[in-house]
Amino acid sequence: MQLTPDVHVVGGGRLGFGISGVGDCHVYLLRSGDDLALVDTGIGLPGDLDRILANIRADGLDPTRIRKLILTHYHTDHIGGAAELKAKLDVEIYASPLTAQALRTGDERAISLDVARAAGFYPLDYKLGTCPVEHELRQGDTVEVGGLTLTAYETPGHSDGHLSFRVTGGDRVYLIGGDLVFWGGRISLQTIHDCRIPEYATSMATIEALEFDALLPGHLQIALSDGRWHVVKAAEVFRTLGVPLSIW
Ligand SMILES: [Zn+2]
Repeated sequence: MQLTPDVHVVGGGRLGFGISGVGDCHVYLLRSGDDLALVDTGIGLPGDLDRILANIRADGLDPTRIRKLILTHYHTDHIGGAAELKAKLDVEIYASPLTAQALRTGDERAISLDVARAAGFYPLDYKLGTCPVEHELRQGDTVEVGGLTLTAYETPGHSDGHLSFRVTGGDRVYLIGGDLVFWGGRISLQTIHDCRIPEYATSMATIEALEFDALLPGHLQIALSDGRWHVVKAAEVFRTLGVPLSIW
């Protein structure tokens, strides 16, 4: 599903458009000229990735042209399909050092997969597929996708090692927010070891200081213009020492 000249939504579950696995995050495809990149993968249950690849073909694009997989954070609904994607396509993976470590080792406790599975988010026999990660991204690092430039911002709070990306060089300026911020200024708090409210507030202030048009979150509604409004709403609550409403 094409959103703009630069961005398609090619996956997402019940907190999205219902076009891949039920628990999947939004999976975005970035395009510029002949270059394609994916942002996040969904959970990667059997058949899920094939649905995502079929969605890409249905949009008239060839998935074998995807060379880069860019990850926002290590929660399983965002990275679970990475190993299978890497086995099927010739992609290099870009992620924060902590997300890279999780994908290399499959450390379930580090990424709260143990508790999320016990809580019923994933099948009891679900295991995270592991794979190499070629590129570790830190604050200010950039990734090029054709004429698009993604700049990484370290935005912990929802989880450690969470990255957001500002995307320039396209039809408009985008903020890929992962699970940092959602429509209406909501956030995502969970009772997991690395959900940290003070860090969340600092991260929101970091993103509030950026200029961008479209907000591309990891779940729920997408804003193609005035996206910063949603971030300002959340930042205002944090500034008065409150905590914005959580989507969960
Ligand atoms: Zn998450």
